[in-house]
Amino acid sequence: MIGGSVGVAVSPNDGADCDELLKKADMALYRAKADGKGAFHFFEQAMDEALQARRALELDLRLALAEGQFELHYQPLYSLGADKVMGCEALLRWRHPARGMVSPADFIPLAEEIGLINALGEWVLREACREAAGWPSHVRLAVNLSPAQFRDRHLVTTVVSALAASSLAAQRLELEITESVLLQDTAGNMSILHDLKALGVRISMDDFGTGYSSLSYLRSFPFDKIKIDQTFVRDILDDADALAIIKAVLDLGASLGITTTAEGVESAEQLDELRRQGCGEIQGYFISRPKPAAEIAAMLGVVVRSGDKAPVFTFSHGGKEGPAAQRWEDEGVLNQPASRQGAQ
Ligand code: C2E
Ligand code: MG
Ligand code: MG
Repeated sequence: MIGGSVGVAVSPNDGADCDELLKKADMALYRAKADGKGAFHFFEQAMDEALQARRALELDLRLALAEGQFELHYQPLYSLGADKVMGCEALLRWRHPARGMVSPADFIPLAEEIGLINALGEWVLREACREAAGWPSHVRLAVNLSPAQFRDRHLVTTVVSALAASSLAAQRLELEITESVLLQDTAGNMSILHDLKALGVRISMDDFGTGYSSLSYLRSFPFDKIKIDQTFVRDILDDADALAIIKAVLDLGASLGITTTAEGVESAEQLDELRRQGCGEIQGYFISRPKPAAEIAAMLGVVVRSGDKAPVFTFSHGGKEGPAAQRWEDEGVLNQPASRQGAQ
């Protein structure tokens, strides 16, 4: 049986000539296909507007790399065992001259779609490694990799080259992937992951608990770290199911000998609960929002002990100067964790 999808444009409302009508019927067809098999859709003005907006964003995005509009912010990864910052995650920011700060959730999927992600990902790796080489040697750098970057035959070479150019030790680099890397082209991607691991680079499973989160993924590759998605951490204090899942992942991490990081920790109470449960590492606004490179040094001196209601900055002489929470202004980017599927 042959099925079909239909897009409909009607004259004179949708257009007076053939070209115009076909263009609009095509937009309606695009929507019909997105609705599922065998659907039909009439053209609506909003489709045109959405397409124009996407085209404008695409044009801007193509210019942005050449114009130097991207920057990296860094967010601390705080060890609850060592009570200090043991790493920072590089998070990409696009400072658009007219749009302001654009969230990665909004432009990374588009960069993947239009094939810009490899060049952008390479820039991120080089820039982040260069920056991290100046941090104390116990501080690791975490960089997110998009599944689309695994389609680039040169990914491993790019990582080698970024490490060599910056003189950053491979052991200090953590590459964060999501399970989608293991869902697509499994054999090819697995071989790239093994090549990266052979360099001495660490591999983390990001956003764990979302998507399919098949436990077999954790068996299929020797991950160095599991990052529990912030959706569970958010509910840890008032949802017994969220707490049960966090406990289960912490147990799993412990038995596999893998560090477990809780993402999205926003309060002292969440931190205390995670500490009670034996969580090894946390990341979240409570410790610090992602910050520009120039502010990293201050973030590295953050300490929070049991019972502290706010993080405290310590300095080399060991004196406490906190609490520091009120000095942390919003960095001006809307975080939209729910909409970042595929944005890894
Ligand atoms: P991710 O890798 O899971 O990064 C954590 C995200 O959670 C970041 O959002 C961070 O700002 C946000 N976050 C951290 N702590 C908290 C908290 O306490 N509460 C809340 N509500 N959010 C918190 P951001 O920077 O908007 O990045 C979103 C996603 O975009 C990242 O999720 C990652 O998947 C992707 N991304 C960011 N930078 C890059 C990059 O350089 N390359 C690639 N491929 N993806 C990137
Ligand atoms: Mg990440
Ligand atoms: Mg994450």
